[in-house]
Amino acid sequence: MRLLIATILVSSLIVQSAYAQLPSAGQANTANDSSCANDPSWTAPQKPFRIYGNTWYVGPHGLGVFLITAPTGDVLIDGGVPGDAALIEANIRNLGINLRDIKWILISHAHCDHAGGIAQLAHDTGAQVIASAADTSLLARGGHDDPEYGDRFLFPPVHVTRKVTDGESLRLGDLMLTARLTPGHTKGNTTWTWTSCEGKRCLHMVDVGSLSAPDYKLIGNPKYPGIVKDFEYSFAMVAALPCDIPLAPHPGMVLFWERVAKREQGDADALIDPTGCRAYAKYARESFEAQLAKQRADAASAK
Ligand SMILES: [Zn+2]
Repeated sequence: MRLLIATILVSSLIVQSAYAQLPSAGQANTANDSSCANDPSWTAPQKPFRIYGNTWYVGPHGLGVFLITAPTGDVLIDGGVPGDAALIEANIRNLGINLRDIKWILISHAHCDHAGGIAQLAHDTGAQVIASAADTSLLARGGHDDPEYGDRFLFPPVHVTRKVTDGESLRLGDLMLTARLTPGHTKGNTTWTWTSCEGKRCLHMVDVGSLSAPDYKLIGNPKYPGIVKDFEYSFAMVAALPCDIPLAPHPGMVLFWERVAKREQGDADALIDPTGCRAYAKYARESFEAQLAKQRADAASAK
């Protein structure tokens, strides 16, 4: 029995830490703590490596930053926290890739832990910066007046040079990536999908947008009245996507490092899990519904 309880405790701890995201309001130290890098893994060096085919991991250990390569030009997704640009650039160079070969930088969403390094990366690569239309103003404000965080988590303002809408496919030479809007976490939160091949085996790659709502005000938030509907749309969207290799802005969302460890132990296909996107959507939906029920109950008892 003791062993059983210990096992349950350990596994719930693993799940909690695996799905960790931006600090919640409770964790955030003070109202004027605008430091984005209070999670050491967000700036921890990580050797770059091939995920599958032309898809590479180039981020710090704790933030998913992905490079998709082709002879016609490369695409980078996300840029870590402010200060991560140098680490990401060194990783890219270590793969033998010239920064100027990066033609596009795509953004998952306008929070400091993913958009923080983008201004620097855009400057150093000369790439076009592409994000969903609904996040462009928050990106341009550098995180100021976030509907949930106010001015707490700021980053160097990002100038978006091309806006995308839900379902839009973008073609860069040999590459094609599709934007799936998964709003809620931010209004323009985006899931990016593409295909990578090894020989004739082509797989659906999905960089799943964050579906968490850490201490978000889900009811009666005048800055985001449609937030519940948006989250519900996004859970369904992610659950329905063709998804062979789930990736994420926070690798723990899709148990990425556990899968990588299994692959290093010899399971060549350990990163492939067609249920991975659905499992994350289910976990996120259940957490969200519990949070929403609690906020509704609190609101009712306050009346
Ligand atoms: Zn976020």
